[in-house]
Amino acid sequence: MFRSSPGVIRTFCGRCGTSLTYRKDGEPDSLDVTTASLDRPEGFPPRRHIWVEDKLCWVSVEDDLPQFQRGGP
Ligand SMILES: [Zn+2]
Repeated sequence: MFRSSPGVIRTFCGRCGTSLTYRKDGEPDSLDVTTASLDRPEGFPPRRHIWVEDKLCWVSVEDDLPQFQRGGP
């Protein structure tokens, strides 16, 4: 467990350091999980794109999923 910023807790793999989860103190019912850290990430396809305003200029979002410039619902 690591507090990278005030009000945020991140967890990492104890062996390799891979980022596992992200949680805000004020949102106890919400937990972000790093999909690529799962054994079967293909079982959790994306449903939306968030923080689109921060994507790198060479990243192209070309599917029909909802996009949110910042964090989404
Ligand atoms: Zn690991």
